[in-house]
Amino acid sequence: MSEIFVGDYTNEAKRAIGNPVLQRALADLQNRFGRGTAQAYRNLPEGPDLRLKAHEIRENAIANLDVLLETLADNVRANGGQVFFARDAAAAARYCLETARRHQVQTAVKGKSMVSEEIGLNSALIGAGIDVAETDLGEYIIQLAGERPSHIIAPAIHKTRTDIGRLFSDKIKIDYTDDPPTLTRAARKALRQKFLAADIGFSGCNIACAETGHIATVSNEGNIRMSTTMPRVHVAIMGMERVAARLEDHDILLRLLCRGAAAQNMGTYVSYVGGPRQAGQVDGPEEFHLVILDNGRSRILADEQFREMLCCIRCAACLNVCPVYGKIGGHAYGHPYSGPVGAVVMPLLAGINAAGDLCQGETLCGACQDACPINIDIPRMLLALRAKLAEGDPGWGVSPAGGGEKLFYRMWSWMIRSRGVYDFFLRLAAVGQTVLPAQNGMIRRLPPPMNGWTKARDLPPVAGESFMRRWKKGL
Ligand code: SF4
Repeated sequence: MSEIFVGDYTNEAKRAIGNPVLQRALADLQNRFGRGTAQAYRNLPEGPDLRLKAHEIRENAIANLDVLLETLADNVRANGGQVFFARDAAAAARYCLETARRHQVQTAVKGKSMVSEEIGLNSALIGAGIDVAETDLGEYIIQLAGERPSHIIAPAIHKTRTDIGRLFSDKIKIDYTDDPPTLTRAARKALRQKFLAADIGFSGCNIACAETGHIATVSNEGNIRMSTTMPRVHVAIMGMERVAARLEDHDILLRLLCRGAAAQNMGTYVSYVGGPRQAGQVDGPEEFHLVILDNGRSRILADEQFREMLCCIRCAACLNVCPVYGKIGGHAYGHPYSGPVGAVVMPLLAGINAAGDLCQGETLCGACQDACPINIDIPRMLLALRAKLAEGDPGWGVSPAGGGEKLFYRMWSWMIRSRGVYDFFLRLAAVGQTVLPAQNGMIRRLPPPMNGWTKARDLPPVAGESFMRRWKKGL
């Protein structure tokens, strides 16, 4: 992981909650995409149970990943492509850079790819003096603004059209307007020059197919197709888990991916790429490279508790229904994966202690699993991460929670298991609470260290007599 910004989760979350423009944008996103997904699954000819089949397909692929990746690599090579297995982010970025240097690349274009964010590709290329243009409209906006994506598939969701109008006026020197079609036309005109000038195109990979040796990319703007067919060289980067065994499986995953991502039956542009341009073909690159990235995934694969996370196809459906993402947006999670998927993946990739806030912040409501096209049990893995944070795990390099917290919970456990002690503390609390500020029968403020509970909510008072005592007295 080359670039992460986790560590300021609480402050970033507070900032997001206090931003009314962002709150409206997030509510709109979740209303548009989140609600449509369930209906899109119901409309499938096979019904929503196709998600269970997809889960089985992904679990089988993950269980046979070594064989599938070798088969994929052999088939890509047989099609004339080149394959590089990158152990970590630095190795992947280095390979991309060396390929660009070998071709004396001056200008690069990129289709939206979260894995390229994961390896810090833009910084590496720009550091080497190569001009890189993001070509997805949302990513283009984010790049002009010098920001990070805040959603896996809608990276500029936090920007209003007024923001974008001002940005375009400042950066690409057009007259200010907040009219979306005019802004889109301006972006298209600017990007057209980039496509024509680019020597190399980078893309991600939505799902690769081992049987045929191709990768598939999905977009609604056609920009990925332009990025991968116009330049002389195409480099695709994929996380090593994104492979399906057979074309039949690939088809099911692709259909579910589009429904999960944007409640669409299919993305507008779906491209299958399996190698360089063949004799007689009118377009396509002269060279095709596939970079298969590990970067911590082997470690996840080796852990039975978390292996299921590798089934993820990064559709973002879980973000679109998550009550936490819906309030704090993507930036609070750190970079690059956010929402429920980020709350599991980021701690596993960046360190469980370092990114521990992310899994602690989720509500465990289960909406993510219901929305997931692969039916991944995210709540189970969130709990497993929390258990590691509480107990520690040398295997994952996790140091356990502070002694104070542990002591508190030990005492709590002892108290609630000892009837007499519990009743004693209950009576003590009933007397103690009479000096606390109250309104309408609710406690307004608790003293430190419990004051966090009442910062945003009132607390019902403790009953003067426990249910058990009343029961004994015959209620
Ligand atoms: S966990 Fe499921 S819903 Fe979330 S991004 Fe992955 S596949 Fe999509």
